[in-house]
This record gives sequence, C-alpha cells and structure tokens, in this order.
Amino acid sequence: MISLDDKKNEFALRAVKQAASLAADIQDEMVSEALTKDDRSPVTVADFAAQAAVGYLLEKTFPGALLVGEEASEALRSPDERASLEKITAFMQRVIPGVGPEEVCNLIDRGVDAPGENYWTLDPIDGTKGFLRGAQYATALAYVENGVVQLGVLGCPNITPDLQENFSGEGSLVIAQRGGGSWISTLSAQINENDFSPLSVSTQSDPARARLMRSFESDHTNTALIDEFQIEIGGEADPVRMDSQVKYALLASGEGEIYLRLLSPDRMDYREKIWDQAAGSIIVEEAGGIVTDLDGNILDFSKGRTLKENRGICASNGLLHGEALEALKKVNA
Ligand code: AMP
Ligand code: MG
Repeated sequence: MISLDDKKNEFALRAVKQAASLAADIQDEMVSEALTKDDRSPVTVADFAAQAAVGYLLEKTFPGALLVGEEASEALRSPDERASLEKITAFMQRVIPGVGPEEVCNLIDRGVDAPGENYWTLDPIDGTKGFLRGAQYATALAYVENGVVQLGVLGCPNITPDLQENFSGEGSLVIAQRGGGSWISTLSAQINENDFSPLSVSTQSDPARARLMRSFESDHTNTALIDEFQIEIGGEADPVRMDSQVKYALLASGEGEIYLRLLSPDRMDYREKIWDQAAGSIIVEEAGGIVTDLDGNILDFSKGRTLKENRGICASNGLLHGEALEALKKVNA
C-alpha cells in the first residue's frame, strides 16, 4: 500500500496530477489546430505551464527543496515569445487565480536548481514529439537521494489504469517508492490511497516471446541494431514504438518484457537526462523488473543533469535481463 501520510508521496502525486491535467487540457484545446499549421507552440505552453505548477506546489510544501527541471524561463522572456507567455499565464490562472506573467516566469525558474545530494527532478512533458502528434507523453517527477531514486511518479493522460491507450479517457497516475512497490490509479479522480492497485512485471522467461519496446522517434535509438537484437534473441513480434516514459509504465504492468534505449548512430556521445529516466526506472524496479545501462551497470543519478557514467538503457522484467545484456554484447550495442 502506498501511504499518503508520507508527505513526499502525497506531494508528488498531487503535483504530477496537477501538471499532467494541465498538459492534457492543453493537448485537447491546442494540439489539433496546431498540427495543421506545423506550430510547436502547444508543447511550449504545456512544458512551461506544467513546470510552473510543480514549482508552485513544491515551494508551498517543501520550501527551498532542490528542483532540477528541464525548462528555464529565459527563452520565454523575449518579445517573440510574448504570445506563448500569455497563453501559459492564462492556463496557470486555472491553478493560481490572478497570477501574472512575471510570477509565472519565477515559478518556472523554481526548477533551475543544480542536482545536489538530495533533489527532485522533473520532466514537465516527457515525449514532446508524442504530445504534438496527439500521441503518448507523460509528466515525470522523482526524488533522488545520494544518486539513488527513492520515489517516482508518472502522470500519463493517454493510458487508462488497465493500460489501454485512450485519448479521451481518465488517464493514469503511477507511483513507486523504494521498498514500497509500484502502484497505479486514475489521473482524473481525487487522490485516494485505497484506489491504487499494485503493478508487477511479466513472468515471461522465453526470449523468443519477449515483447520489445523502443522510442517512436527513430533518431532517439538505433533501429537497425534493435532488429539485430531481435534476431539474436529469436524474438517473433515487432517492437512496440511509443513516446515517453509511458513505456516504463507498460513494462512495470507486464505489457512488455524488454525496453531498449540504444545510442543513435548520429549521437554516440548522447547521455540520458536524469528527468527522462528517474521516475520510470524506479517504477519498473519496484514492480520486480531490472533497469541498467547497455553494459549492465546500475544507473547513477549523482553525476549532474545527465547519466554521465551510463550508456543507453536496458530495462526488462528481470527474468530476461541476463539474456538481453548478452544479446546486446553480441550485436555490439
Ligand atoms: P522517447 O520518447 O522514449 O524517445 O524519449 C523522449 C526523450 O528522449 C526526450 O525527453 C529527450 O530528452 C530524449 N532524447 C532526445 N534526443 C535523444 C537521443 N539522441 N537519444 C536518446 N534520447 C534522446
Ligand atoms: Mg523528456
């Protein structure tokens, strides 16, 4: 059972629910029109509004706590971005009646801390490309102590608590606490600890039957090597392509067995951002899975804004982890 008497759990759930609900409203109200005009402004608006909402709630709950967010208001303060800032301010007024643009910028900048010994890390909209395509995205918030994630929450507006894609449904709120398991509930309902159901990974141990997951965006991974990996393990099904940390929620729920983030051939020096992996990785671990880098090392969240010491990601249901790492070695991933 996840306890809401624990102040960090209660805050993280409340903050992600608020931010992801704002993002969902923005996707509903702005994205379809923007799609026809090749206009990226909805993702700008949602990203900044979601970060401001979390910054606001954090300061009220844990004044002075470190928050490492993906965004900073600097880009928004230029005259070219005036229209976006006005939209963001209008959406933020749903959270803080009467708030003005200057205060919104300051709330966004509540999230510009550098990582310390203990910190929160936030991806206000993970999967911005999915958000703009009207597909999957997530709000991700995690708490890290001494380089180890202790708490992670994902808000997933476009999957239901029974893990079905649904673009007009109730959405999901997923939480994991170190040693306390992984749990899922509804994003749109009041937060109530009795409404959370436990998540556990798949019990599949036959590599040929492993369902693979990978980024929707081909340039975030190496698709040719994923095909080689698939042949190496004798896998039969095509990999599922999906945006954002929603993939971690699916893996934690037994809806897949192996999730790979291989290095893109154009970006061999790419290192994962902490906010892209922190919440999702603990959700898989607490559901019984294993998350490492491509060399089998555990993820080290004590090295700054990126996982500097880790290359890519291999996440699995645990039973197939050894075979997955072996296959990665064979294909030189
Ligand atoms: P996904 O939708 O799983 O591909 O994950 C989205 C995240 O991928 C974004 O939040 C980006 O921070 C991250 N990303 C951007 N470029 C790359 C890259 N070259 N390789 C891996 N991840 C990337
Ligand atoms: Mg992201």
